Amino acid sequence: MTTYKAPIQDTLFVLNDVLGYQRYSNLPGFSDATPDVLEAILAEGAKLAENVMHPLNRVGDMEGCVRHDDGSVTTPKGFKDAYDQYREGGWMGLAAPAEFGGQGLPYAVHTAVSEYMISANMALMMYPGLTQGAIAAIVTHGSDEQKATWLPKLIEGGWTGTMNLTEPHCGTDLGLLRTKAVPNGDGSYRISGQKIFISAGEHDMSDNIVHLVLARAEGAPEGVKGISLFIVPKFKLDASGNPGERNTLSCGSIEEKMGIHGNSTCVMNYDEAEGMLLGELNGGLKAMFTMMNEARLGVGLQGLSVSEIAYQNAVSYAKDRLQGRSLSGAKAPDKKADPIIVHPDIRRSLMTMKAFNEAGRALALWTAIKSDVAHRAGDDKDRQAADDYTGLMTPVVKGVLTDKGFDHAVMAQQVFGGHGYVEEHGMSQFVRDARIAMIYEGANGIQALDLVGRKLAQNGGRAVQAFFKEVGEFCEENRADEKMAPFTKALKKGLNDLQAATMWLVQNGMAKPDNAGAASTDYMHLFGLVALGYMWAQMARSAQAKLAEGANGATVFYDTKLVTARFFMERIMPETATRLARISSGADTLMALPAEAF
Ligand SMILES: Cc1cc2nc3c(=O)[nH]c(=O)nc-3n(C[C@H](O)[C@H](O)[C@H](O)COP(=O)(O)OP(=O)(O)OC[C@H]3O[C@@H](n4cnc5c(N)ncnc54)[C@H](O)[C@@H]3O)c2cc1C
Repeated sequence: MTTYKAPIQDTLFVLNDVLGYQRYSNLPGFSDATPDVLEAILAEGAKLAENVMHPLNRVGDMEGCVRHDDGSVTTPKGFKDAYDQYREGGWMGLAAPAEFGGQGLPYAVHTAVSEYMISANMALMMYPGLTQGAIAAIVTHGSDEQKATWLPKLIEGGWTGTMNLTEPHCGTDLGLLRTKAVPNGDGSYRISGQKIFISAGEHDMSDNIVHLVLARAEGAPEGVKGISLFIVPKFKLDASGNPGERNTLSCGSIEEKMGIHGNSTCVMNYDEAEGMLLGELNGGLKAMFTMMNEARLGVGLQGLSVSEIAYQNAVSYAKDRLQGRSLSGAKAPDKKADPIIVHPDIRRSLMTMKAFNEAGRALALWTAIKSDVAHRAGDDKDRQAADDYTGLMTPVVKGVLTDKGFDHAVMAQQVFGGHGYVEEHGMSQFVRDARIAMIYEGANGIQALDLVGRKLAQNGGRAVQAFFKEVGEFCEENRADEKMAPFTKALKKGLNDLQAATMWLVQNGMAKPDNAGAASTDYMHLFGLVALGYMWAQMARSAQAKLAEGANGATVFYDTKLVTARFFMERIMPETATRLARISSGADTLMALPAEAF
């Protein structure tokens, strides 16, 4: 059985001391989340995660979802009750607009709490997670009538949402999609086609399921320019807006899969189902990206969340498991052997996970704050700068946090030796669950291409230049501070590598696109290293400031931050040089062999 404790002190340190969360109190919603309120929300969220959701994580894994002959799906025992508690606690609407029943609090607060709940039970949290994407799409692209019809129930959690993009022949390349939409002449459409791999497509947790379906309207152009997004509910609404007649859509089967067994992954069949256009005709890609961007940050958070719970369990085991003696002399001479936490190689794993998780949390929260600024700031320039940042960082958060999340689930499993490979300790579930986050919401290779192929060049490189400037200025401002030297020197070196890689891409990627494609994954990770390094340098500065002020009884906490920051700079940051070397080797060797040589 695994254990989980929400890292509240770490979250508060990042939000309050490092990112200066209270600085944004002029933005709508932020002034309501005073330090006391923030702490209370985190504590309540932690309780739900630890006491209600976490005990069901293994149940969900063992039981999975069951589809019945009539197409209905039962979720694992306890899931509905836990979801009801989530719903009754108002968690779905934490950051949703107040005019539709939400609490209007910052997305950053929602992100902080979601980390805990996803750590506790990733599969369960996917039901509300998908709903958040649907809410975001309707808030941004819905008509007034659509907002009034769908948002209150979604935000209250009585209805849940889904994203229906994928078809058997069409995953990454959505231009290939075939699902058809035929106008009825009264503003509604008849939607027909098959979608596969639809998370939370059918289940027993809500009164209605609001499917957002990408389809091609009759006569629309080929490719991505001809796709539109439709609202297609499981139950059509009656005259009073309540679920009425069953729509002609059904779950044909559910997938047997590697992990997230508690989430129903459905084949959805649409047979002239009634749907309403959301956003503009043939503007589906734009509407879908609203949903996807939100969802990509959420999936990045899944990587971090699984990494955190896997790490916590590896630490407990490493303190408990007695094997061998410390290289520097027995540390537990009264016992037959020392706990494995004394071994440097076990420390390497634990420190790697710890250093990543704490910086990953800071990066996720920083990105969430920027997303809040992009949506809520009054000043156009502030909104634009924050929007640039969020656009740039979304593929990095998604790709890097999920690649590393999986690596760390494996690393934590390794700490358990053979006991991690058997199911008893629950470590295998983390590995299986974490794996999907690298694949859905755009496989990580596609995130890397989005970063290199779209985000870097957008608006003449405005976003990336702003990021370089900010990190460079941080290093410059702290250059004279000797205590900061171990952090700023390593960060500056990483930034130089990132800038060199960017320059190499500008010079070699445009003329020969394979060079950009060959560099993309390394570039995304190089970017992630610098972003995480920047988080560590800021955390080190805040920890030093706190220690200088007297640390208020938390000296060990801040000292630990400084050691972890040093570990990151010494052991993880140097990887930027390797990434740069790979990037600048170009595509020639990679692409040299003909397909038959493989
Ligand atoms: C458990 C689960 C839940 C899911 N939930 C949902 C959901 O709720 N809604 C939904 O719509 N979909 C969902 N998906 C689908 C998921 O988003 C897709 O599987 C994913 O987008 C990849 O598509 P694909 O599987 O068709 O792979 P493909 O598109 O066939 O890609 C195969 C590989 O080729 C790479 N590749 C493809 N094109 C390129 C290119 N141009 N350049 C470089 N590399 C490329 C990809 O990175 C990938 O590694 C889910 C999938 C799973 C397994």
